[in-house]
Amino acid sequence: MLKVYGDYEQLLQKVYASAAKKMGFLAEDAEIEVSFATPEEIRALNEETRGIDKVTDVLSFQNIEDVRLPLIPDDYPYDLDPDDGSVMLGEIVICLDRAKEQAEEYGHSLEREVGFLFCHGTLHLLGYDHEEEEGEKEMNDLTEKILEAIGLTRDFDPTKDELSDVETGDPEPFRSGFVAVLGKPNAGKSTLINTIVGEKVAIVSWKPQTTRNKILGVYNEKNCQIIFIDTPGLHKPKNSLGEYMMKTASAALEGVDCVLYVVDCEKGYDEKDKMNIVSYTNAGHKVVVAVNKVDHVTKEAVFAILTELNKLQSITAVVPISALRNRNIEPLKEEIKKLLTDSVKYYDDDQYTDRNMRFMASEIIREKALRLLDKEVPYGIGVDVRDYFVRDDGVIEINADIICEKPAHKPIILGKGGQMIKKIATYARQDLEDMTGSKVFLTVFVRVKNDWRDSDLVMRDLGYDPKNPD
Ligand code: GDP
Ligand code: MG
Repeated sequence: MLKVYGDYEQLLQKVYASAAKKMGFLAEDAEIEVSFATPEEIRALNEETRGIDKVTDVLSFQNIEDVRLPLIPDDYPYDLDPDDGSVMLGEIVICLDRAKEQAEEYGHSLEREVGFLFCHGTLHLLGYDHEEEEGEKEMNDLTEKILEAIGLTRDFDPTKDELSDVETGDPEPFRSGFVAVLGKPNAGKSTLINTIVGEKVAIVSWKPQTTRNKILGVYNEKNCQIIFIDTPGLHKPKNSLGEYMMKTASAALEGVDCVLYVVDCEKGYDEKDKMNIVSYTNAGHKVVVAVNKVDHVTKEAVFAILTELNKLQSITAVVPISALRNRNIEPLKEEIKKLLTDSVKYYDDDQYTDRNMRFMASEIIREKALRLLDKEVPYGIGVDVRDYFVRDDGVIEINADIICEKPAHKPIILGKGGQMIKKIATYARQDLEDMTGSKVFLTVFVRVKNDWRDSDLVMRDLGYDPKNPD
């Protein structure tokens, strides 16, 4: 975001957008402030900050010394604008009188000159300098490209020409798709999905419209969304249940862009894996094989498996990984990305993120508590969701604390024999189950603010079994 204090707002916004695009950061991820100064003011600034008694055309005040591009706000936790989370890169001060003189001298428009100075300052804020000749040339070349992209060239004529807009979006098209994660039990499928999806987006819901499958996780990136789904696996039908399983399995595979097949190289790659893989490729699926747990076996063992897999020409890609140690996961993602065929964003970035769900859970618990307590707790309460995770059996486990201000409020929230808290938890659980479409295991404790006693113990003292809230 660019904050302009003074004239040329529109012009500078366009230059900023162009610079962001050229330098590879999102305009909203960074923040630069720009203002204008008289010759006297800029002289004083020079004197004060650099000990130089001089009127200069532009000054920039860098906030971060070693900015790394691409700019990732998470890398600068102490330099974020609390309002919008953008990285505060610094300030630029332009002396308009000097700019006017220089524009005349060079025979180009003042617009061009102001754009140039601002762009130059922006590159400084990003860590560029021109102490050496080479640096100066690089900066000037970059500046030229940035200004050219919006038509602010040296022959730009403000009375005739208009600046063009820069597409701030990324030029790469958006890609998305469904990926079926398959492989024998314990191969490391869940671990792999956790590693890929990470803390960021732990999907816990089903997508009833399109598939009956469990969504294991949704991976989001600026230009891509991968939805990993679970499938019951292809079984040879032995009985009617088997047939049913078989049907759901093949139906499940409809519409997926690829199959991610996980092989456990500790247990070894065997005939069953081979048969599975071949059955997917024969059915026309693109199959990416992740050879997992390479951290636990010798290089030779991995190599032997890779050699075997390479004999299967129908496989699209084979990538050795360690899901647990987060090794070689990037190349695996790249292989999957190549196979995605949709361009629809199925899920909002934070529709089901862990953070979002934690927040929703705390709001729901709070709402139930306030309604059921009906003004009995005058100072209000807070809810702290301590844990929120999806268990292996698919149940969402949530552990939360209701925090009250005064010790006297605690028994009110607990109710007689724990009846009140049970009620709060039950109502909240029902809502959360409706919302997520999953079974929810919810445990709620009561804690007095600044009371750090073990809540389990407190609950037990009150005759309440924390392991069994219902
Ligand atoms: P799933 O049944 O395929 O979902 O397998 P899990 O993800 O539950 O993993 C089964 C076991 O393998 C767990 O104990 C994991 O910690 C372990 N595991 C998964 N990936 C790796 C890996 O890359 N290296 C090692 N050493 N163990 C792993
Ligand atoms: Mg699993």
